[in-house]
Amino acid sequence: MAAGSLFIIAAPSGAGKSSLVNALLAAEPGIELSVSWTTRPPRPGEQAGREYHFCSVAEFQARKQAGEFLESAEVHGNYYGTSQRWIQEKIAADKDVLLEIDWQGARQVRQHFPQAISIFILPPSIAVLAERLRKRGQDEPDIIERRLLAAGGEIAHATEFDYVIINEDFSAALNAMKTIVYASRQRFAAQAARHATLFTQLGIHV
Ligand code: GDP
Ligand code: ADP
Ligand code: 5GP
Repeated sequence: MAAGSLFIIAAPSGAGKSSLVNALLAAEPGIELSVSWTTRPPRPGEQAGREYHFCSVAEFQARKQAGEFLESAEVHGNYYGTSQRWIQEKIAADKDVLLEIDWQGARQVRQHFPQAISIFILPPSIAVLAERLRKRGQDEPDIIERRLLAAGGEIAHATEFDYVIINEDFSAALNAMKTIVYASRQRFAAQAARHATLFTQLGIHV
């Protein structure tokens, strides 16, 4: 995949995935976040094109039919999908790209990009997960209940991920995420792509 890495981050709703990803992006401007398409209505404060590209079910299906999505899935009763074109452009430009998607999407992305680096974020307990979802205060109570009911089923798929981070202390979890990013940048394939001339001069034949 050349010099960039493709990171997949998944977690049950409320585990702290978006907070960690936003803090990582603020600290590491070199990483670009894929903005997904979704049929979920915007939450208070969410902006079209920033958190998500919001669209109707009909528009989503038309885009899916047209092959625009690298992956798509139904999560908590809404459709979500990742723009294929955007990812291809970033990979071609050797960028580090991050996808915040569910486990079903992660499976589909791994089929296209087996070298993707996947990270699952766990809450320290289900009680803490429930408390975070309620305190966030951005979803209706029935939606929170639905997400909590789904948490166990999502957590069961943590086994499919390369790394697991337990988001108890926020800064410790953020450091763990940064460590994975820094390590990925030193992978042989990434270094060989970035330093092709040096590798040739040193007689390393890739
Ligand atoms: P959150 O769980 O509080 O972040 O709530 P969201 O409504 O933003 O996301 C709900 C779920 O959909 C989460 O598991 C996200 O990771 C997942 N999701 C978001 N975008 C995509 C996408 O493009 N593809 C897939 N497969 N899942 C997505
Ligand atoms: P997700 O994107 O996984 O649904 P969020 O990033 O929205 O989760 O986090 C859910 C809530 O929990 C937010 O209100 C966030 O501020 C809070 N939160 C995230 N990480 C921690 C942490 N380590 N300790 C305490 N609260 C946290
Ligand atoms: P346009 O026809 O305006 O070039 O793009 C078509 C749709 O693709 C628009 O609705 C726009 O929001 C979306 N789009 C444009 N750039 C990006 C991008 O970088 N990432 C994603 N996910 N969608 C994009």
